[in-house]
Amino acid sequence: MPATHDLIVVGLGAWGSAALYHAARAGLRVLGLDRFAPPHRISAHHGNGRVIRMASPEAPDYTPMMARAYALWHRLERESGQTLIVEPGGCYVGGRDSEIVAGSLASFAGTDLAHALLGAAEARRCFPWLTVGDDEAVLWEPGCGVIHPENAIRAHQAGAAKAGAEIRTGASLLRWNATPDRVTLETAAGTFEAGRAIFCLGAWAPEHLGIPGLPVTPERQVVAIHDARGLQGHRIFVAPCAEAECVYGLPEPGETYKVAIHHGGRSGPPDTLLDQPTAEDLALIDRYVRLRLPALACRRVEAFTCLYGDSPDRHFILDRHPDHANVVYGTGCSGRGFKFASVIGERLVKLARGEAAELDFFRRARFAA
Ligand SMILES: Cc1cc2nc3c(=O)[nH]c(=O)nc-3n(C[C@H](O)[C@H](O)[C@H](O)COP(=O)(O)OP(=O)(O)OC[C@H]3O[C@@H](n4cnc5c(N)ncnc54)[C@H](O)[C@@H]3O)c2cc1C
Repeated sequence: MPATHDLIVVGLGAWGSAALYHAARAGLRVLGLDRFAPPHRISAHHGNGRVIRMASPEAPDYTPMMARAYALWHRLERESGQTLIVEPGGCYVGGRDSEIVAGSLASFAGTDLAHALLGAAEARRCFPWLTVGDDEAVLWEPGCGVIHPENAIRAHQAGAAKAGAEIRTGASLLRWNATPDRVTLETAAGTFEAGRAIFCLGAWAPEHLGIPGLPVTPERQVVAIHDARGLQGHRIFVAPCAEAECVYGLPEPGETYKVAIHHGGRSGPPDTLLDQPTAEDLALIDRYVRLRLPALACRRVEAFTCLYGDSPDRHFILDRHPDHANVVYGTGCSGRGFKFASVIGERLVKLARGEAAELDFFRRARFAA
């Protein structure tokens, strides 16, 4: 009997919802499965804001990919009739040779993207809400923005459904197997079959993909939300943090401001990492708020945990399954993958269809070397 679907997307978070959308728009008979009903809080995607920007301090090669991501997000905004991205602009703080400043600056080389490098005195004049050290510079990216993650996921799912996709929630994946022309997925909501599958399981990918040594480490992250009513001028910022890779903050809807420490969190099985923030977690964030954003001190109103799925080099892992050519997967968001979700979804669908997907840089084989 032929399978009921051409393609099944498993995991409908940031990347899976985007893949579902692109598959449905490409005319595939597509089914999306998730163990919960995304957006939801046992994930990497919950909350009201994710930073979206052209600067990629990790590597300048992301600039064309990010340009495509923006184009697709703007198309989704037009189709859904809602604003998903606002652009308050962002300040990247650090020594002139630091990864935050020099690495971000490299993303703009050879482009006409607006940016400005300011010395400490000028930065303090332009951004009085932000504390900048005498030996620090600020790279200003006016287009740095905030994308609403939960609304973006809803918009991708709605666009997918409009193009004919089916969605089954409460469908926790239990087991799966594949032959060259069929993937069979046993879930808590029944068994489903398709010619091909895309797995977007985030930090849960190693548990289910059956790829020995898939190098993805779940990491607990703590987020603190502050009351920003009555404050003016607070933009996005990224700054050095002695205990982790950096500290960052962003204005979110409802006159709130989120601050978090990037990386440095506990690792372990993903379902054990979403416990409540501890006093120690919050003391660290509070210290950086007092240091960098004094007007926000003592305004913390909420805190929660979220999950990264880290790859060793902080680049994504987007590839075909080593044993099953009709199974592809995306994981290793490394705390920076939301902004790319629109283009990652598009490219995973291309890969699943055997089309040129421009994903060589992201193959798992790079870790074997
Ligand atoms: C605190 C925090 C801040 C971040 N900030 C930024 C930022 O500023 N900018 C940025 O670009 N990125 C940021 N990110 C990263 C971004 O949010 C992630 O890259 C993105 O959400 C990853 O998407 P994903 O689809 O891989 O995983 P997820 O969105 O977590 O989706 C995985 C899905 O798989 C499902 N699933 C798991 N197990 C099963 C199963 N057995 N059966 C069926 N379904 C299953 C889950 O229910 C979930 O819906 C941040 C992440 C966190 C945690």
